[in-house]
Amino acid sequence: MGDYMFMLENHLSANQFRVVERMRDLAGEAGSNIFLTGGAMRDTLAGFPVRDLDFTVEGNALKLAKVAEKKLGAKLVSTDDHRKSAELLFPGGTTAEIAMARQERYTKSGARPQVIPATIHEDLRCRDFTVNAVALSLNKASLGLPIDPTNGIGDIERKELRTIHNYSFYDEPVRMLRLMRFKARLGFAIDDRTRAHFDNAREAEMLSRIASDALGDELRKMAEEPNAGDLMEALEQEQLIDLYSPALPGPKLNLAAFQKLQKARQMVQSGVEFRLHPLPLFLNVLLEKLNAKERADLLKTAGVTKAEVNASQKLDAVAKKLERDLKSAKLQKASQLYQVLMQAPGEAVLYLLLNSAQRLVLDRIKNYFQKHLPASLEITDEMVAATPGTPKFQKAKEQMILTRLDARPKKPAPAPEAVPAPPMSSFARGPSVRHAR
Ligand code: ATP
Ligand code: MG
Repeated sequence: MGDYMFMLENHLSANQFRVVERMRDLAGEAGSNIFLTGGAMRDTLAGFPVRDLDFTVEGNALKLAKVAEKKLGAKLVSTDDHRKSAELLFPGGTTAEIAMARQERYTKSGARPQVIPATIHEDLRCRDFTVNAVALSLNKASLGLPIDPTNGIGDIERKELRTIHNYSFYDEPVRMLRLMRFKARLGFAIDDRTRAHFDNAREAEMLSRIASDALGDELRKMAEEPNAGDLMEALEQEQLIDLYSPALPGPKLNLAAFQKLQKARQMVQSGVEFRLHPLPLFLNVLLEKLNAKERADLLKTAGVTKAEVNASQKLDAVAKKLERDLKSAKLQKASQLYQVLMQAPGEAVLYLLLNSAQRLVLDRIKNYFQKHLPASLEITDEMVAATPGTPKFQKAKEQMILTRLDARPKKPAPAPEAVPAPPMSSFARGPSVRHAR
């Protein structure tokens, strides 16, 4: 019973685990049952970094989100009154979704389902894939108890993606896109029957029923995928990229650039703090080879907002400025380079990795990813004499990192005899496995 809590504590970042504990306490005080669910459970069980926490509450989730806002200093990023769910951003950067346990009834394919409060078991059975339908109880009487009505844990072990219902793709055709996204992300195989259901749904032209806002939401999620290259290849192969633009399949889809983006993102080691808004860069690559009309059509189809388009258009100028800063001869110390790149938007840093022709700039960014960021993990939370989660703590930790960076020799001193250099991975023994967004 305790094993799953132990696994969570080891797998989540210290900040994420603290949020799990605080939310458990708040739900306990409110007398509501709370569970960790969805991607957070899937990724923990499969050994992938957990991006955001998914909580499901048997009871009033929106009220609990408000309490978290008040008592834990979380920021309410968005709320969905139809599904009774909210997105929260906690101090320290942990993001979470908190949703009411619900049943969804579909009256028309692709349309908004009717939402009914439900038990956690009923909720899990309404989800898309078995691997996403595992919950972990955070409640006092059953703390650490896994709830797995569709044998999702077995499918995670077998590395298989399986729909829970035969009509899953008919009920919500956007799940066809989700399937490919999870395939690229997790590297899991698609179960044969699920594949047959997918083919049938395509045959029945279910793809045309995906609502525009669902296409947009999915595009935003695609942008967040570290395996952008594999994902875009799969979407082209499955003729799903056409949903966004008939002009895209073929030479106008810059797969080489997406693979480059994937490689650049892989350079960011797990556990390090790297703030990234991936959509502007993703859009930049996606639209690169389209003409003005094709671009406008794609943006309209996916309901991309003006602000999102602006951020993407501005990226070029932001990155150019960063490129100039990074060329500066003043950047002598490791701590100076670290500070410039820490403050820069992550998407501009990656943009330069993809597009800059300046050797010095590329080398400096690579040094930052491969040496300085991993070295920053050597300063653990326990070493900082302040209360975690407070601004004072952040500042003290940052200062310790800067001091540590400059104390490191630029190159390992040549050994009198050939002693092999330590592998890069020895820098990476951090407590957490996380890509901060
Ligand atoms: P990510 O790591 O991208 O957040 P995720 O699996 O957590 O992956 P979310 O979109 O955050 O995906 O959704 C959380 C959970 O809600 C999913 O794991 C799944 O159980 C359920 N879910 C989300 N979208 C759907 C859908 N369209 N149909 C059925 N269940 C869904
Ligand atoms: Mg999630």
